[in-house]
Amino acid sequence: ATPMSVMVGVGKAAEAGVLIRNGEALQTASKISAMILDKTGTITEGSPKVTEIQVTGDYKEEEILSLAASLESGSEHPLALAIVESAQERGLVLSKVANFEAIAGHGVEGSIDSNSILFGNEKLMDERSVSIEHYIASAQRVASEAKTPMYLAINGELAAIISVSDPIKNDSVEAIKRLQANGIRVVMLTGDNRATAQAVSEKVGISEFFAEVLPEDKSNKVEELQAQGEIVGMTGDGINDAPALAQANVGFAIGTGTDVAIESADITLMRGSLHGLADAIAISKATLRNIK
Ligand code: ADP
Ligand code: MG
Repeated sequence: ATPMSVMVGVGKAAEAGVLIRNGEALQTASKISAMILDKTGTITEGSPKVTEIQVTGDYKEEEILSLAASLESGSEHPLALAIVESAQERGLVLSKVANFEAIAGHGVEGSIDSNSILFGNEKLMDERSVSIEHYIASAQRVASEAKTPMYLAINGELAAIISVSDPIKNDSVEAIKRLQANGIRVVMLTGDNRATAQAVSEKVGISEFFAEVLPEDKSNKVEELQAQGEIVGMTGDGINDAPALAQANVGFAIGTGTDVAIESADITLMRGSLHGLADAIAISKATLRNIK
């Protein structure tokens, strides 16, 4: 494309709330054959809310939530914010945490009043040999409702499951349909558990997904599709997504996402809506047609 037609395309895109960082990305966008969409904060709103606390034994909901929120005060993960917010709403008092650690793609841990507390997903419980077998059915039920179950263990024993729900953006389904109507293979990518990913992908009409992907492995999934001959677009909002955004042929960041994601992407969707993807591709096609 001529520099002039690219400038026109970039301007048109900007009017649609799509900020294109470089002319090359505008030209490559029309050739995208596969689009990987991060789940949390990209397909969904990204502001999960606590919906349910299931306790084991004699534990009280509020003491569990207080422990979880005390730990999560040290994390900036969207799930952590959901837990802390829920504790604040209930006016709970938080405790001091010693030896805090955030374990990427797994959860958080620390000591409270010399009890060791673990909070996170099934993978974390498995790795620390916390038995959850009596509660798997219950967690599966939660996950089948597209919610994310998190386990809390006290001194190596499961004490509760806290579940959060993160609503799907109201126009994600339509925006995904537009991509598919363009013949694009749409794939969802998430660190969340398989059953939750399955439920969300069904709700939004995506038949292919990668779940339980560790943050450091997200960019490998982009490479995997590239090795299959796909021209890959990647859309994400999180720090976790940055390497995958950089690896993709075209990286798209959600404008309300983290700065790191925006800096790693070629294109930013200022309105946060996934409609920006099909808009960008349409403008890219029009730009290339103009020079022929
Ligand atoms: P994603 O951004 O796709 O959700 P992450 O790798 O950040 O992926 O998280 C994957 C999973 O790890 C989460 O769904 C959750 O089960 C667990 N996890 C990560 N961070 C936390 C946290 N701070 N508290 C509880 N669970 C967490
Ligand atoms: Mg995300």
